[in-house]
Amino acid sequence: MKTLSPQKVALVTGGSRGIGAATCLQLAKAGYAVVINYTASQAASDKLCESITLASGTALGLQADVADETQVLAMFAAIDAKFGRLDALVNNAGVVDITARLDEMSVARLKRMFDINVIGSLICAREAVKRMSTRYGNEGGAIVNLSSAAAKIGSPGQYLDYAASKGAIDTLTMGLAKEVAAEGIRVNGVRPGIIDTDIHASGGIPDRAAQMAPQVPMRRAGSADEVANAIVWLLSDAASYVTGTTIDVTGGR
Ligand code: NAP
Repeated sequence: MKTLSPQKVALVTGGSRGIGAATCLQLAKAGYAVVINYTASQAASDKLCESITLASGTALGLQADVADETQVLAMFAAIDAKFGRLDALVNNAGVVDITARLDEMSVARLKRMFDINVIGSLICAREAVKRMSTRYGNEGGAIVNLSSAAAKIGSPGQYLDYAASKGAIDTLTMGLAKEVAAEGIRVNGVRPGIIDTDIHASGGIPDRAAQMAPQVPMRRAGSADEVANAIVWLLSDAASYVTGTTIDVTGGR
Protein backbone atom coordinates (compact mmCIF):
# COMPACT_ATOMS: atom_id res chain seq x y z
CA MET A 1 0.00 0.00 0.00
CA LYS A 2 1.20 3.53 -0.69
CA THR A 3 1.23 6.22 2.01
CA LEU A 4 0.18 9.81 1.35
CA SER A 5 2.55 12.46 2.67
CA PRO A 6 1.48 13.87 5.05
CA GLN A 7 -0.76 10.88 5.64
CA LYS A 8 -4.39 11.85 5.22
CA VAL A 9 -6.98 10.50 7.66
CA ALA A 10 -10.42 9.23 6.63
CA LEU A 11 -13.35 8.32 8.89
CA VAL A 12 -15.88 5.87 7.45
CA THR A 13 -19.01 5.54 9.60
CA GLY A 14 -20.44 2.03 9.41
CA GLY A 15 -17.09 0.90 8.04
CA SER A 16 -17.20 -2.63 9.41
CA ARG A 17 -19.37 -4.20 6.72
CA GLY A 18 -20.78 -3.79 3.19
CA ILE A 19 -20.14 -0.58 1.27
CA GLY A 20 -18.31 0.95 4.25
CA ALA A 21 -15.85 -1.94 4.51
CA ALA A 22 -15.15 -1.86 0.74
CA THR A 23 -14.54 1.89 1.04
CA CYS A 24 -12.14 1.42 3.99
CA LEU A 25 -10.09 -1.08 1.98
CA GLN A 26 -9.92 1.16 -1.08
CA LEU A 27 -9.02 4.24 0.99
CA ALA A 28 -6.25 2.31 2.75
CA LYS A 29 -4.89 1.22 -0.65
CA ALA A 30 -4.98 4.88 -1.75
CA GLY A 31 -2.76 5.75 1.23
CA TYR A 32 -5.22 7.08 3.82
CA ALA A 33 -5.09 6.15 7.50
CA VAL A 34 -8.60 4.75 7.94
CA VAL A 35 -10.88 5.00 10.95
CA ILE A 36 -13.43 2.19 10.86
CA ASN A 37 -16.55 3.08 12.84
CA TYR A 38 -19.14 0.45 13.82
CA THR A 39 -21.85 -0.15 16.40
CA ALA A 40 -21.98 -3.90 17.00
CA SER A 41 -19.59 -5.68 14.64
CA GLN A 42 -16.34 -5.47 16.57
CA ALA A 43 -15.10 -8.78 15.13
CA ALA A 44 -15.64 -7.53 11.55
CA SER A 45 -13.92 -4.24 12.37
CA ASP A 46 -10.96 -6.04 13.99
CA LYS A 47 -10.60 -8.31 10.95
CA LEU A 48 -10.64 -5.36 8.57
CA CYS A 49 -8.09 -3.46 10.70
CA GLU A 50 -5.86 -6.51 10.68
CA SER A 51 -6.00 -6.99 6.92
CA ILE A 52 -5.19 -3.29 6.34
CA THR A 53 -2.34 -3.36 8.86
CA LEU A 54 -0.92 -6.60 7.40
CA ALA A 55 -0.74 -4.82 4.03
CA SER A 56 1.28 -2.00 5.69
CA GLY A 57 -1.70 0.34 5.94
CA THR A 58 -2.97 2.24 8.99
CA ALA A 59 -6.39 1.50 10.49
CA LEU A 60 -8.19 2.17 13.76
CA GLY A 61 -11.55 0.66 14.74
CA LEU A 62 -13.83 2.86 16.86
CA GLN A 63 -17.19 1.83 18.28
CA ALA A 64 -19.81 4.58 18.32
CA ASP A 65 -23.52 4.78 17.59
CA VAL A 66 -23.72 7.73 15.18
CA ALA A 67 -27.17 8.59 16.56
CA ASP A 68 -25.68 9.21 20.03
CA GLU A 69 -23.98 12.61 20.25
CA THR A 70 -21.90 11.66 23.30
CA GLN A 71 -20.51 8.60 21.52
CA VAL A 72 -19.82 10.58 18.34
CA LEU A 73 -17.94 13.27 20.28
CA ALA A 74 -15.86 10.57 22.00
CA MET A 75 -15.06 9.04 18.59
CA PHE A 76 -13.87 12.38 17.17
CA ALA A 77 -11.84 13.02 20.35
CA ALA A 78 -10.15 9.65 19.85
CA ILE A 79 -9.31 10.59 16.24
CA ASP A 80 -7.90 13.93 17.45
CA ALA A 81 -5.75 12.14 20.01
CA LYS A 82 -4.45 9.48 17.63
CA PHE A 83 -4.01 11.43 14.37
CA GLY A 84 -4.53 15.15 15.11
CA ARG A 85 -6.24 15.67 11.74
CA LEU A 86 -9.19 14.61 9.61
CA ASP A 87 -9.21 14.92 5.84
CA ALA A 88 -12.15 12.80 4.71
CA LEU A 89 -15.51 11.72 6.15
CA VAL A 90 -17.76 9.09 4.60
CA ASN A 91 -21.21 9.34 6.18
CA ASN A 92 -22.05 5.74 5.35
CA ALA A 93 -23.72 4.30 8.49
CA GLY A 94 -27.36 3.67 7.66
CA VAL A 95 -30.24 1.32 8.38
CA VAL A 96 -33.46 0.11 6.80
CA ASP A 97 -36.35 -1.51 8.65
CA ILE A 98 -38.84 -4.24 7.91
CA THR A 99 -40.93 -3.67 4.78
CA ALA A 100 -44.14 -1.80 5.69
CA ARG A 101 -46.58 0.90 4.59
CA LEU A 102 -46.46 4.30 6.31
CA ASP A 103 -49.81 3.62 7.99
CA GLU A 104 -48.19 0.64 9.74
CA MET A 105 -45.06 2.44 11.01
CA SER A 106 -44.60 3.37 14.69
CA VAL A 107 -43.10 6.67 15.78
CA ALA A 108 -40.32 4.68 17.49
CA ARG A 109 -39.39 3.23 14.10
CA LEU A 110 -39.48 6.64 12.39
CA LYS A 111 -37.33 8.21 15.12
CA ARG A 112 -34.72 5.43 14.93
CA MET A 113 -34.56 5.77 11.13
CA PHE A 114 -34.06 9.54 11.23
CA ASP A 115 -31.76 9.47 14.30
CA ILE A 116 -29.30 7.10 12.60
CA ASN A 117 -29.61 8.04 8.92
CA VAL A 118 -30.08 11.81 9.22
CA ILE A 119 -29.13 13.15 12.67
CA GLY A 120 -26.09 10.81 12.73
CA SER A 121 -24.88 12.18 9.39
CA LEU A 122 -25.52 15.77 10.47
CA ILE A 123 -23.58 15.39 13.74
CA CYS A 124 -20.64 13.65 12.04
CA ALA A 125 -20.57 16.29 9.29
CA ARG A 126 -20.66 19.05 11.95
CA GLU A 127 -17.68 17.57 13.77
CA ALA A 128 -15.81 16.99 10.50
CA VAL A 129 -16.31 20.61 9.40
CA LYS A 130 -14.74 21.80 12.67
CA ARG A 131 -11.66 19.71 11.87
CA MET A 132 -11.44 20.49 8.13
CA SER A 133 -12.55 24.09 7.61
CA THR A 134 -10.02 26.83 6.93
CA ARG A 135 -12.35 28.91 9.15
CA TYR A 136 -10.92 26.94 12.09
CA GLY A 137 -7.33 27.04 10.78
CA ASN A 138 -7.46 23.62 9.09
CA GLU A 139 -6.38 22.49 5.62
CA GLY A 140 -9.76 21.60 4.13
CA GLY A 141 -11.15 18.18 3.32
CA ALA A 142 -13.92 16.22 1.63
CA ILE A 143 -17.16 14.64 2.78
CA VAL A 144 -19.22 11.99 0.98
CA ASN A 145 -22.76 11.23 2.15
CA LEU A 146 -24.45 7.92 1.32
CA SER A 147 -27.89 8.54 -0.11
CA SER A 148 -29.98 5.96 -1.99
CA ALA A 149 -31.90 5.58 -5.23
CA ALA A 150 -34.84 5.35 -2.79
CA ALA A 151 -34.60 9.14 -2.37
CA LYS A 152 -35.80 9.51 -5.97
CA ILE A 153 -38.11 6.46 -6.13
CA GLY A 154 -39.82 6.98 -2.75
CA SER A 155 -39.98 3.23 -2.01
CA PRO A 156 -43.80 3.09 -1.67
CA GLY A 157 -45.09 0.12 0.30
CA GLN A 158 -41.55 -0.82 1.33
CA TYR A 159 -39.38 1.77 3.04
CA LEU A 160 -40.98 5.21 2.68
CA ASP A 161 -39.32 6.29 5.94
CA TYR A 162 -35.90 5.20 4.67
CA ALA A 163 -36.48 6.94 1.31
CA ALA A 164 -37.46 10.17 3.11
CA SER A 165 -34.35 9.97 5.30
CA LYS A 166 -32.19 9.70 2.18
CA GLY A 167 -34.02 12.66 0.61
CA ALA A 168 -32.81 14.62 3.64
CA ILE A 169 -29.28 13.40 2.93
CA ASP A 170 -29.48 14.76 -0.64
CA THR A 171 -30.47 18.15 0.78
CA LEU A 172 -27.68 18.01 3.37
CA THR A 173 -25.17 17.36 0.58
CA MET A 174 -26.38 20.24 -1.56
CA GLY A 175 -26.69 22.76 1.30
CA LEU A 176 -23.54 21.93 3.23
CA ALA A 177 -21.51 21.95 0.00
CA LYS A 178 -22.49 25.59 -0.55
CA GLU A 179 -22.00 26.48 3.12
CA VAL A 180 -18.37 25.33 3.25
CA ALA A 181 -17.24 25.57 -0.39
CA ALA A 182 -15.11 28.66 0.32
CA GLU A 183 -13.55 26.96 3.36
CA GLY A 184 -11.70 24.20 1.49
CA ILE A 185 -14.31 21.48 2.00
CA ARG A 186 -16.05 19.61 -0.81
CA VAL A 187 -19.30 17.78 0.02
CA ASN A 188 -20.78 15.22 -2.36
CA GLY A 189 -23.08 12.22 -2.26
CA VAL A 190 -23.47 8.78 -3.77
CA ARG A 191 -26.88 7.28 -4.46
CA PRO A 192 -26.50 3.48 -4.65
CA GLY A 193 -29.20 1.33 -6.24
CA ILE A 194 -29.57 -2.35 -5.40
CA ILE A 195 -26.24 -3.37 -3.91
CA ASP A 196 -25.45 -6.87 -2.68
CA THR A 197 -24.83 -6.37 1.07
CA ASP A 198 -26.31 -7.55 4.38
CA ILE A 199 -28.58 -4.49 4.63
CA HIS A 200 -31.35 -6.40 2.84
CA ALA A 201 -31.32 -9.13 5.52
CA SER A 202 -31.82 -6.46 8.17
CA GLY A 203 -34.90 -5.37 6.21
CA GLY A 204 -36.24 -8.93 6.33
CA ILE A 205 -35.49 -9.79 2.66
CA PRO A 206 -32.01 -11.42 2.60
CA ASP A 207 -32.19 -12.21 -1.14
CA ARG A 208 -33.59 -8.78 -2.15
CA ALA A 209 -30.56 -8.01 -4.33
CA ALA A 210 -31.13 -11.17 -6.42
CA GLN A 211 -34.92 -10.66 -6.44
CA MET A 212 -34.62 -7.08 -7.72
CA ALA A 213 -31.85 -7.73 -10.26
CA PRO A 214 -34.22 -8.33 -13.23
CA GLN A 215 -35.75 -4.86 -12.69
CA VAL A 216 -32.37 -3.13 -12.97
CA PRO A 217 -31.60 -1.94 -16.53
CA MET A 218 -28.17 -3.62 -16.27
CA ARG A 219 -30.00 -6.79 -15.04
CA ARG A 220 -27.82 -7.26 -11.98
CA ALA A 221 -27.21 -5.96 -8.47
CA GLY A 222 -24.13 -3.83 -7.89
CA SER A 223 -21.23 -4.70 -5.62
CA ALA A 224 -19.99 -2.79 -2.58
CA ASP A 225 -16.75 -2.15 -4.47
CA GLU A 226 -18.59 -0.49 -7.35
CA VAL A 227 -20.08 2.02 -4.89
CA ALA A 228 -16.75 2.46 -3.09
CA ASN A 229 -15.13 3.36 -6.46
CA ALA A 230 -17.40 6.42 -6.71
CA ILE A 231 -16.91 7.39 -3.05
CA VAL A 232 -13.11 7.21 -3.26
CA TRP A 233 -13.09 9.19 -6.51
CA LEU A 234 -15.24 11.93 -4.98
CA LEU A 235 -12.83 12.16 -2.01
CA SER A 236 -9.77 12.31 -4.26
CA ASP A 237 -8.03 15.29 -5.85
CA ALA A 238 -9.29 13.99 -9.21
CA ALA A 239 -12.66 15.44 -8.13
CA SER A 240 -11.15 18.77 -7.03
CA TYR A 241 -13.81 20.90 -8.80
CA VAL A 242 -16.77 18.67 -7.85
CA THR A 243 -18.98 19.72 -4.94
CA GLY A 244 -22.68 19.64 -4.10
CA THR A 245 -23.43 16.76 -6.45
CA THR A 246 -24.77 13.25 -5.85
CA ILE A 247 -23.75 10.47 -8.21
CA ASP A 248 -26.19 7.64 -9.04
CA VAL A 249 -24.51 4.22 -8.85
CA THR A 250 -27.57 2.20 -9.83
CA GLY A 251 -26.94 0.22 -13.01
CA GLY A 252 -29.30 2.66 -14.73
CA ARG A 253 -32.23 2.26 -12.29
P1 NAP B 1 -24.81 -2.81 5.79
O1 NAP B 1 -24.12 -3.87 5.03
O2 NAP B 1 -26.07 -3.13 6.54
O3 NAP B 1 -23.75 -2.14 6.79
C1 NAP B 1 -24.18 -1.09 7.61
C2 NAP B 1 -23.01 -0.53 8.37
O4 NAP B 1 -23.50 0.59 9.14
C3 NAP B 1 -22.40 -1.50 9.35
O5 NAP B 1 -21.01 -1.27 9.40
C4 NAP B 1 -23.07 -1.11 10.67
O6 NAP B 1 -22.27 -1.37 11.81
C5 NAP B 1 -23.17 0.38 10.50
N1 NAP B 1 -24.18 0.98 11.36
C6 NAP B 1 -25.52 0.74 11.41
N2 NAP B 1 -26.09 1.52 12.34
C7 NAP B 1 -25.10 2.27 12.87
C8 NAP B 1 -25.06 3.27 13.87
N3 NAP B 1 -26.17 3.64 14.54
N4 NAP B 1 -23.86 3.82 14.17
C9 NAP B 1 -22.72 3.44 13.54
N5 NAP B 1 -22.71 2.50 12.59
C10 NAP B 1 -23.89 1.92 12.26
O7 NAP B 1 -25.19 -1.56 4.83
P2 NAP B 1 -24.70 -1.22 3.35
O8 NAP B 1 -25.60 -1.91 2.39
O9 NAP B 1 -23.25 -1.36 3.23
O10 NAP B 1 -25.15 0.32 3.29
C11 NAP B 1 -24.23 1.38 3.54
C12 NAP B 1 -24.93 2.69 3.20
O11 NAP B 1 -25.35 2.66 1.84
C13 NAP B 1 -26.17 2.98 4.04
O12 NAP B 1 -26.25 4.35 4.33
C14 NAP B 1 -27.30 2.57 3.11
O13 NAP B 1 -28.50 3.24 3.39
C15 NAP B 1 -26.72 2.95 1.76
N6 NAP B 1 -27.34 2.22 0.65
C16 NAP B 1 -27.23 0.87 0.53
C17 NAP B 1 -27.86 0.23 -0.52
C18 NAP B 1 -27.78 -1.27 -0.73
O14 NAP B 1 -28.51 -1.79 -1.60
N7 NAP B 1 -26.96 -2.00 0.00
C19 NAP B 1 -28.62 0.96 -1.44
C20 NAP B 1 -28.71 2.32 -1.28
C21 NAP B 1 -28.08 2.95 -0.24
P3 NAP B 1 -22.33 -2.81 12.55
O15 NAP B 1 -21.54 -3.73 11.65
O16 NAP B 1 -21.65 -2.59 13.86
O17 NAP B 1 -23.76 -3.20 12.65
